[in-house]
Amino acid sequence: MSLADLQALERAFAIPTYARYPVEFVRGSGCRLWDAEGNEYLDFLAGISVLNVGHCHPRVVAAVCEQAGRLLHATNLYYTEPALRLSARLAESSLGGKVFLCNSGAEANEAAIKLVRRARPGGEIVVVKDAFHGRTYGALSATPQEAKQAPFAPLVPGFVVVPKDPAALEAAVSDRTAAVLLEPIQGETGINILSQELLEAARAACDRVGAALVFDEIQCGMGRTGTLWAYEQTGVVPDAMTSAKALGGGLPIGALVTGERLADVFQPGDHGSTFAGGPVIASAALVALELCSDPELLARVGTLGARFAAGLAELPYAAAVRGRGLMLAIDLAPGVLAPKLARRALLEQRLVVNATGPGTVRFLPPLVAEPGDVDEALARLEALA
Ligand code: PLP
Repeated sequence: MSLADLQALERAFAIPTYARYPVEFVRGSGCRLWDAEGNEYLDFLAGISVLNVGHCHPRVVAAVCEQAGRLLHATNLYYTEPALRLSARLAESSLGGKVFLCNSGAEANEAAIKLVRRARPGGEIVVVKDAFHGRTYGALSATPQEAKQAPFAPLVPGFVVVPKDPAALEAAVSDRTAAVLLEPIQGETGINILSQELLEAARAACDRVGAALVFDEIQCGMGRTGTLWAYEQTGVVPDAMTSAKALGGGLPIGALVTGERLADVFQPGDHGSTFAGGPVIASAALVALELCSDPELLARVGTLGARFAAGLAELPYAAAVRGRGLMLAIDLAPGVLAPKLARRALLEQRLVVNATGPGTVRFLPPLVAEPGDVDEALARLEALA
């Protein structure tokens, strides 16, 4: 089927929620993608931080194939080993409590929202400006962006939005607060690192009133910033966190991970999902989590990220570079449009990146990238000047 055929099918049958680029990808390996005509692309978006271990990592593929031939699905009415091993591994790698597995990032945040409301019935959830927590109703209600929220009102009540200012956050937290929900590094709105002061103020405010501090590590977790979880570099430990994206090594999975305090808030019947923690995806996630926990890989994320950030700063059209590890963005010089630059990168240079807004281009390469891949990406970006 040609690209034109696919576009005709899309026009006729796909609800138009995506503005797709005119490229059909058919194969991936490591940092590389190939289109239907056999052209090779350098992928510095990694499926929006999903392919942290690279495309089709052989160990992920082997785990999927092996499990797929034995048992695809059983539901959570019964025991399956991969899900429980994954839960143990996730809890041990982070907050030490318990885990609810689900199928996506938004669902992980829905679980977190329900959990903190269950712990403090009727409680408010404080979020900050520029946050993105997903598209389902609870997660959308926690995503204070006019364009995304307004067409879908009324939203879930009980969300309080504050500026990214420690004093404002501190003032918004009261004994009515169930939780403060934050991305330590905001991804969808252009890689904005929340300040250490803000994170510490959130921790102190939650402690003051007995509310839960919840970190959304869906984009910034799984080794993306040079530690398995982004919060490890802040010294601020949340009461719960959500993970998804890279957790499945390329397949859809999400997780809510708690610390001790919130571990037994949910009781049987409070929450659930038919497909959650299915054996195939949990097997893939066990491998992805092991690979992303490798200290050598994590150390490389730091050095590669520094090399890439230094190169990005030299680009003639880059006004500022932001980010941590291999979660990076550039703000463009006045007059340079990010959507246009991302499109040119894809179609002229076969480099996959994306625009998070009119003036910001985001880079989320696979963590298995080599220094040569970084240099090649920089050369392709320079060629766009
Ligand atoms: N939270 C963050 C920080 C995200 O970046 C995203 C997706 O981009 C989500 C939640 C929603 O995840 P999903 O698209 O898997 O529902």
